[in-house]
Amino acid sequence: RHLKLKQFKDDKCQTQDGHGVKLLANIGTLSDISRMNDVGAQGVGLFRTEFILMHANSVPSEQQQYKMYCEALFGLNGLPLTIRTFDIGADKDIPWLNQQHEDNPALGLRGIRFSLANPHIFISQVKAILRAACHGTVKLMFPMVSQIEELEALLVLIEQAKSQLLEQQKAIGNVSIGIVLETPAAILNLPSMLPLVNFVSIGSNDLAQYTLAADRTNPTLANNYPAVSPAILQLISMAVMHCKQADKEISLCGEIGSNPEVLPLLVGLGIDNISINPANLLAVKANLVTGHYKDFVDHAQHVSQLSRIEEISQAVKAYKHHAF
Ligand code: PEP
Ligand code: MG
Repeated sequence: RHLKLKQFKDDKCQTQDGHGVKLLANIGTLSDISRMNDVGAQGVGLFRTEFILMHANSVPSEQQQYKMYCEALFGLNGLPLTIRTFDIGADKDIPWLNQQHEDNPALGLRGIRFSLANPHIFISQVKAILRAACHGTVKLMFPMVSQIEELEALLVLIEQAKSQLLEQQKAIGNVSIGIVLETPAAILNLPSMLPLVNFVSIGSNDLAQYTLAADRTNPTLANNYPAVSPAILQLISMAVMHCKQADKEISLCGEIGSNPEVLPLLVGLGIDNISINPANLLAVKANLVTGHYKDFVDHAQHVSQLSRIEEISQAVKAYKHHAF
């Protein structure tokens, strides 16, 4: 099967009827970059930088981080690198940070809330990223932003990072700025936030968790509260609509993007950048390049009218347009 999939590596990333979709990679470590190059990913759509912390016992310095991001850019050879700032907390507990105990860590000081409470960690990471951006194409992305006040506060910290670099006479590269859509509030609040960002990316793992109020790490809930459900599809459609209206780029970086069966639905809903686990990228690509966009749109319209989780998963499974 792998050999068969390999034939798709050099195919143009578009449907039979010429609709282009970018297939990017989710990475957690620098060694994932050779893995994504092997499958022809068009860049990194999500670098989960908190993995750096999981493999360390203190926060790496600005200089150490700068070197890591430069090394990643070197491996990418001009392809874009989307760096998500540390998403600390909840299921990504970093024991040596000694965070205060919380009864509900998933609803607590996580993602950007942690960053705003610990600005020194955030600013030194942003400084490393802004410096690395001199050596490649960098997109800077923030996890768990739900409302404009958080975004404004982050932008203030980014300005502080820039002025510190200017003072230190360190060169700053261009970055585009985006947020991960992981809560229903983030999507409802897009009209106010979109003018402040260049792009957004749907984090469907947390979006499902926070929309369905179902712990993503609890296996007993997985079947009744899946990542693809009527509520999630409505939120994805709403996010696409807001982004098209504001002419902003939208992508998806949650695990549903790594499921080849879901590709026709996502593309049919209007997602045209998907970030995928490198191991699944060619299987997803096979379903893209052998399909027709106009069929994907019909499929998405059909699935969007279904109100039962079971009907949706049946329709997704039943939609097979080729041998994979
Ligand atoms: C998500 O929540 O969908 C996402 C991409 O981020 P993570 O899985 O790292 O929380
Ligand atoms: Mg997330």
